[in-house]
Amino acid sequence: MSGGYQGKLAFIDLSRDKCRIENLNERDAKRFIGGKGLGLKILWDQTPAHLDPFDPTNPLIFVTGPLTGTLCPTSGRFAVCTKSPQTGIGLDSQVGGYFGPEIKKAGFDVIIIQGKSENPVYLFIDEGQTEIKDGMWLWGKSTSKTVKALREKHSDQKLRVASIGIAGENLVKYACINVDSHEQKQRGGQAGRGGAGAVMGSKNLKAVAVRGSKRVTYADERRFKDAVKVANKKISTDSFIPKRRNIGTPIWINPMSELGILPTKNFQHATFPLAEQISGERMKETIVRSNKSCFNCPIQCGKQSEVNYKGERIELEGPEYELLALMGSNCGIGSLAAVSKGALMVDELGLDGISSGNVIGFAMEAAEKGLISKAESKDLRFGNEDAFLKMIEKIAKREGIGDLLAEGVKKAAKTLGGGSERFAMEVKGMEMPGYEPRGSWGMALAYATSDRGACHQRVWTVRAETEGKLGDRFSTLGRARFVKEGQDERSAAYSLVVCDFAPLGVNDFVGMLNSATGFDLEEGEYLLAGERIWNLARMYAVREGISRKDDYMPKRLEEPLPDGPTKGKRISKVAFDSMLDEYYELRGWSREGIPTSSKLRELDLGRVL
Ligand code: SF4
Repeated sequence: MSGGYQGKLAFIDLSRDKCRIENLNERDAKRFIGGKGLGLKILWDQTPAHLDPFDPTNPLIFVTGPLTGTLCPTSGRFAVCTKSPQTGIGLDSQVGGYFGPEIKKAGFDVIIIQGKSENPVYLFIDEGQTEIKDGMWLWGKSTSKTVKALREKHSDQKLRVASIGIAGENLVKYACINVDSHEQKQRGGQAGRGGAGAVMGSKNLKAVAVRGSKRVTYADERRFKDAVKVANKKISTDSFIPKRRNIGTPIWINPMSELGILPTKNFQHATFPLAEQISGERMKETIVRSNKSCFNCPIQCGKQSEVNYKGERIELEGPEYELLALMGSNCGIGSLAAVSKGALMVDELGLDGISSGNVIGFAMEAAEKGLISKAESKDLRFGNEDAFLKMIEKIAKREGIGDLLAEGVKKAAKTLGGGSERFAMEVKGMEMPGYEPRGSWGMALAYATSDRGACHQRVWTVRAETEGKLGDRFSTLGRARFVKEGQDERSAAYSLVVCDFAPLGVNDFVGMLNSATGFDLEEGEYLLAGERIWNLARMYAVREGISRKDDYMPKRLEEPLPDGPTKGKRISKVAFDSMLDEYYELRGWSREGIPTSSKLRELDLGRVL
């Protein structure tokens, strides 16, 4: 490879305590780029159909892209890919911070971890050398204590660490992998969604620690630096960036509530009367101490905060919009201090905050409807901060009702019955994030067709819909095309890997990709790669039995919202089906949602089958 990539993959076998190094396949790199695309291709190659996600052979793949660790702004990112224990299909989880660039500095593009160790271990990667080391002494530690302990052991405060918490050890289906954390200036990150932390726990792998000093080279350094200059100029002159830097993602809390899009009390409402108290502006005034940023990011959207919760002084990163929405309004909690305490707990225990807030909101409604007894729920009710915080811990430890909730909202609803499936807010077993589709109809299609279950990061229609760029926001018109094109474009960007928040266009990304790697992709070819990656993810899901029946919206969305600016709004099954039909047609899939063989040939995926 002439630049961008390091050209090496490390295969770690925990069962046999062995490592082998392979060269990166150049054809795969060209067709699937890196990150999400390359990770899903490796996953496809390494897993037979219907493999139990906790089978030792399920690979846990840490995969960078050709722009990871380069001068490209927001290039501190990498992807974690595996078969998800939460959804049973392929998963890619995008992670920020500084860990991804360190994988490249250590001389690798990809780390593929298979097998299962007999006892807890951690993987130490040091300048291209890999070693599996005893991790018994780390087992049971929180994620930040694990980072601290490994840095002390290796006498290196800059050691980069990805670790699981107690939730991952206990195989909670939405356990995350935490990357570094709680540093004053530098952002950490999470492979949050889909339960990659549980896969890591199933392998008895507590942490991966990495360091290196190898630099990334460029095929055409001068042209790459020119493209970077243009990208940085765009970022510095974008009118939204100062707001993103000043307030961060919580900037959306107030507008989402005012527009009737903020999930409230398990999506029973879409406007939260206490929104102002958990808003980004309130955070800025009261708890934010400094900005934080991922590797090489001029945007600096992260926030380091300090909170007093019932006399306890807490320092934490965030909380981000999604946690304020799911653990705040969705649980009826209007206290910034309580949400911050919850956000810190999910980080330390290693839980996905979106799923945790969604599941607890569901349990609060189930308890209020008498489907969970008072004794079991420990008085779990909307707005009860103490019960909310206790439940986070019970889920991570799988104690009492927490054991069922640790399985996710879909399984919990199936077990509890009593009509609770109607208010289980999930798609394909993944809990819905912080945007109510009845206030932004495209999100119903975005969640239903997302390749990893209900997720806003595959395409986000909210801004275009609320700013009127797609006409009336309560309409199906044009949504299918917007969703399809957005998913393809993001698939390519998540393969580079770059951040969602960079206000850059396809031309910027292609310019940096080509000059870094020596590729000569046209913009159309780059987007086609994105479409190829999306279809590969779909074929993985189809192989697991996924079809139209799984591309649904939660039943609650058919009911009218009771109040607020979106009062009376609902999405009928007919309206939803019309979007889905149009989406399948645009994708070249059958009416059952299966990619046709001609579409696969067009995408050079024929050989995948
Ligand atoms: S915009 Fe925020 S999340 Fe994205 S790379 Fe920069 S600091 Fe990280």
